[in-house]
Amino acid sequence: MTMARVALVSGGTRGIGEAISLGLKKAGFTVAANYGGNDEVANKFKEEHGIAVFKWDVGDAAACEEGIKKVEAEVGPIDVLVNNAGITRDAMFHKLTFDKWQAVIRTNLDSMFTMTRPVIEGMRERSFGRIINITSINGQKGQMGQANYSAAKAGVIGFTKALAQENARKGVTVNAIAPGYIATEMVMAVPEKAMEGILSQIPVGRLGAADEIADAVVYLAGDNAGFITGSTLTINGGQYFT
Ligand code: NDP
Repeated sequence: MTMARVALVSGGTRGIGEAISLGLKKAGFTVAANYGGNDEVANKFKEEHGIAVFKWDVGDAAACEEGIKKVEAEVGPIDVLVNNAGITRDAMFHKLTFDKWQAVIRTNLDSMFTMTRPVIEGMRERSFGRIINITSINGQKGQMGQANYSAAKAGVIGFTKALAQENARKGVTVNAIAPGYIATEMVMAVPEKAMEGILSQIPVGRLGAADEIADAVVYLAGDNAGFITGSTLTINGGQYFT
């Protein structure tokens, strides 16, 4: 019997990340879920689903190195990394503070380095890896009020394309998924008026479900997806075509 592959999901205890963790577990992966600070949600998630949880800040390089070492010691070498953790700090650019700019770049873009750098050498050595980065429709088309978020998420796509080229020969694929508006706390925090405007722009006529993103992650994580690398899979109900 072959050992189950190990998947680490950042921000894997809540929202889209939770659906990804559960989807990977259901597909037979051994899953470790990272989270940032919400212990209550993480502990409930751990109890309900029997998935190990690990708390550290994905923007902190030293914490990532240490955290990933711990995951590899307790769960096993990481075969699949899902870079999902992300935040928004919205404001029009002419009102945007440097603090909000930096917070979003750190959590959403610096984390590509801090989370991926500690796992890439092991994946190359073992000649297998799946890296799946969660970007956003707003990194593809830009979004007013989100200059920081749009910049970070566009950066994720560039990172994905470069890393895919570097690692293709080593059996390591690197892809991005660009969700449109998905029904999570992040989106439910949008004011009602703005939500009406958002819905009117989605041809499918509804928000997406976290499961719909999770299923795509599971597919890209599979052994059978080895010929897909460097791509950005758009899942947005037809709102924006690339
Ligand atoms: P949520 O706010 O629902 O969940 C965010 C998760 O990320 C939580 O588990 C949170 O941990 C974790 N997290 C946040 N900051 C850090 C940090 N510094 N270190 C470690 N973990 C952290 O977000 P969503 O599920 O909505 O979003 C998930 C991803 O999908 C993000 O990258 C987002 O940008 C992207 N996305 C979301 C869309 C949507 O419609 N919801 C659309 C397009 C993209 P904790 O619980 O401890 O706070």
